[in-house]
Amino acid sequence: MNNFNINTDIYFGQGSLDKLEEIRNKNVLIVTDEFMVKFGIVDKISSKLENCNIHIFSDIKPDPPVETIAEGIKKLTKSKPEVIIAIGGGSPIDAGKAIKELSNKIGDYGSPELIAIPTTSGTGSEVTMFSVITNRNNNKKYPLVSKNMTPHIAILDPELVASAPQTITADTGMDVITHAIEAYVSTNATDFTDAFAEKTLKLSFEYLPIAYKQGNYLVAREKMHNASCMAGLAFNVASLGLNHGIAHAVGGKFKIPHGRINGMLLPLVIEYNADLSNGSINKYSETAKKYYDIAKILNLPAQNVRIGVNNLIHEINNLKRMLKIPRTLTELGISEEIVKELKEELIKTTLADVCTQT
Ligand code: NAD
Repeated sequence: MNNFNINTDIYFGQGSLDKLEEIRNKNVLIVTDEFMVKFGIVDKISSKLENCNIHIFSDIKPDPPVETIAEGIKKLTKSKPEVIIAIGGGSPIDAGKAIKELSNKIGDYGSPELIAIPTTSGTGSEVTMFSVITNRNNNKKYPLVSKNMTPHIAILDPELVASAPQTITADTGMDVITHAIEAYVSTNATDFTDAFAEKTLKLSFEYLPIAYKQGNYLVAREKMHNASCMAGLAFNVASLGLNHGIAHAVGGKFKIPHGRINGMLLPLVIEYNADLSNGSINKYSETAKKYYDIAKILNLPAQNVRIGVNNLIHEINNLKRMLKIPRTLTELGISEEIVKELKEELIKTTLADVCTQT
């Protein structure tokens, strides 16, 4: 028996932020980062909340650490909000989710409604049950999982993403593609998760290059914002794989933005997972066949599994070059000595390739 559920009410498109005008006379906690305050996004959102008592917690940094979550819990237990609005990229949204969930674990602070408003098109966190929290002592990233953390409402207003610079558009866009591909080849994939992953991939390969080149073009921003959310719906049920496992470990260790390390790894993980060297012309793994399906979905030349998978890898590498995603850890300024140590640690995995390819 399979199941697919969407636990979040999703409002999308230009003007969707107006949904907030329905919130009146409430005690509200906004969880966000400094950029959102400085750039006027918090003011814009606050102005829509009629007669509300607004508390702002804007200390979230990328890859939020446990200590910040603890500060947020203090803020929540003092302010006792009826509504939490998490605004920003995946980091503030993950923080809002963890703050809400962990507060409820330690006391009765009601069940605040959680509204997630993403300002990057990347993580899909606005519809998932995951929250990734970092332990700064060992630089490890821990995914918390609870259905209770799934936001009640997601608002996808493309105007909020228009300010994202090219590097953030590129990194987060590669995150979207990685989510969709990992969900699609997952052993938990179903027709339902495949539908969201397929649409994500079509939208992303068409609109990510446009959003990257013309950041103010709202049609491209809207398509990428929708794609990011749809990828979240897919992996929330199908889950992710090797790419994310390695990305969390290496990204945490070297403080590499999540989407960037996902994008760096993606072609290598596809090559490893598809394992074409072991396939004969009619005998490839189910995983290889699913990568081949993706090549067909993207209308790439795919006369057989081998050609399809190789063209998918080629297409991703072309996109990465265009988006200026680094190819190696040394390109990121990580010393060859440290890369060598990492390589020795991980010599038997495909990760070795990302360290050594030049
Ligand atoms: P982020 O939230 O860490 O933000 C990165 C930077 O982008 C910040 O400096 C932020 O201020 C800036 N930024 C955000 N929106 C902007 C905008 N519109 N204009 C200009 N600058 C903007 O980045 P992210 O990639 O969205 O999130 C990454 C985090 O999400 C990681 O911790 C990752 O592990 C986590 N994650 C969670 C899930 C999930 O399901 N919960 C899935 C994938 C990743």
